[in-house]
Amino acid sequence: MVEFFASTTISPGQIKKMRDLLKKHEPKKWAFENIIFTPIRASQGTANMIRKLKEEENSTIMFDSGGFYVQQEKLTMEDLLCKLKQFYETNKWGDWYVLPDSPPVSSDSVEVAWGKVYETIYCAKSFSEEFNGKYEKKFIPVVQGITKEQIYHCVNSYSNLNVKRIGFGSFGTSGKNNAINILTKKSLENLKYLSTLAKDYGFELHAFGIGGPSSINRIREYIDSFDSSSWDKAGGFGDVFLPNKRVNITGKSPRICKNHYVGYDYIFNDLKNNHECYFCSSLNELRKNRMYRSLHNIIITHETVKKWQEDITLDIMLNQK
Ligand SMILES: [Zn+2]
Repeated sequence: MVEFFASTTISPGQIKKMRDLLKKHEPKKWAFENIIFTPIRASQGTANMIRKLKEEENSTIMFDSGGFYVQQEKLTMEDLLCKLKQFYETNKWGDWYVLPDSPPVSSDSVEVAWGKVYETIYCAKSFSEEFNGKYEKKFIPVVQGITKEQIYHCVNSYSNLNVKRIGFGSFGTSGKNNAINILTKKSLENLKYLSTLAKDYGFELHAFGIGGPSSINRIREYIDSFDSSSWDKAGGFGDVFLPNKRVNITGKSPRICKNHYVGYDYIFNDLKNNHECYFCSSLNELRKNRMYRSLHNIIITHETVKKWQEDITLDIMLNQK
């Protein structure tokens, strides 16, 4: 069964507004079922709001390490370790606690990546030791690495930690400051390799920072959970998700990519056959309202994952017959 963790970087006021809209219009599609956020970069207000989702709506919460901000050189590793320890010690309401990590970027050489691999393993293990067995099963150590040897080294090093799930964070990066994860052919191969390795060691596997619908569909068979913030980012860019692609609808004419224009009928035929939600019931509203686009996108992602779960259950039932 694959779980989707919605990544939130939005303000507490926006989270509350989205929660209320979802509860009012689509109570059965509870897309805030699982939430991931980075406590050391979030305001106290955001942490309080997310805790409310846990306590009032029974959402499952994953605390992310903030390794991304070390990668972006917005934080030093020392700062990260100190802030994370303080937060984890005083916040016992999380369901998952990601251990500190140092993610490589696409431009790193194999040697530089090895440095980050050793740093990640060292920090994860010493950090976890400081908690003296507390949270053990809730800790998620992160596998970093751009070669199979590096990935193997991480998993093997984590084999004596008493953890249930490990995560993969070394997807290809692109864009300004390497801030966007992309699913390159090589990172997909690495994920596939790690998936087999994790099974051998008895670990569940989480994939960090996955993009839109097409990426999600490509990783489904290798993972137990993933997180994505693209539902909201895409909404901000004027994009809406269809079950296997995204379309921009805020320009002159809807387009799938740079010069690939499609008509409004195309979107609605695709949606009508596969999906229905309150937020996309009016295209006009969807064009005007950013939050409606984000909520439609999160519902599509949620539905995609629920559909996989139904497929798996059906497979099991058919195999038992
Ligand atoms: Zn919709």
